[in-house]
Amino acid sequence: MVEEQLVPRGIHQQATLEAMSTVPRHLFVEDAMQARAYGDHPLPIGGGQTISQPFIVALMTQALQLEGHERVLEIGTGSGYQAAVLSRMCERVYTIERLDPLLVRARKLFDRLHYHNIASRIDDGTSGWADEAPFAAILVTAGGPKIPEPLVEQLADPGRLVIPVGEQNVQDLQLVTKQDGEVQIRTLEQVRFVSLVGAHGWED
Ligand code: SAH
Repeated sequence: MVEEQLVPRGIHQQATLEAMSTVPRHLFVEDAMQARAYGDHPLPIGGGQTISQPFIVALMTQALQLEGHERVLEIGTGSGYQAAVLSRMCERVYTIERLDPLLVRARKLFDRLHYHNIASRIDDGTSGWADEAPFAAILVTAGGPKIPEPLVEQLADPGRLVIPVGEQNVQDLQLVTKQDGEVQIRTLEQVRFVSLVGAHGWED
């Protein structure tokens, strides 16, 4: 997966490549899908949600430019795979999921794999996690109509936020950077994510 899908497409950050070589992706997909876990595509994880294609996970992770000391907020725990990858590359991950059965399953995997630097909770992640803010990096793994304002507020300075923004069936993957009080936005890639549902996302 790393050699054939990530490196040739420009994923070069060593920490991202190492984390994605280490985390056992097959444990995060449904049993019936395990043989396809390392394929070049997204997969269903239950509840109408999906685990992203490995390249997209890598692209989003690399864009955060983590060095190891950061506290990172993720919105949309899903299978827990992205949080697991992040947890190998930073000090602590805070991840929020709105669907209880998915979070229950992800938490079991974090325990089983001894990934103890992941905090998680059930909530609407579009409002962020104010008690633990600010975060040096924020990653949203569901697509919203706009960048949720609370997430920009909870981003540290300097800080990097990655989020798919656009229509419900296609979005721009946007990188928001905060530096010296200035916020800049640029588009990295066109992507297709499931919907970000919440107060600062799509309506339920
Ligand atoms: N990062 C996940 C991908 C999950 S798909 C992984 O590695 O598997 C996106 C997830 O975002 C879904 O599980 C969905 O339930 C969740 N989601 C959507 N809107 C949300 C919100 N407002 N707050 C928290 N989670 C949300």
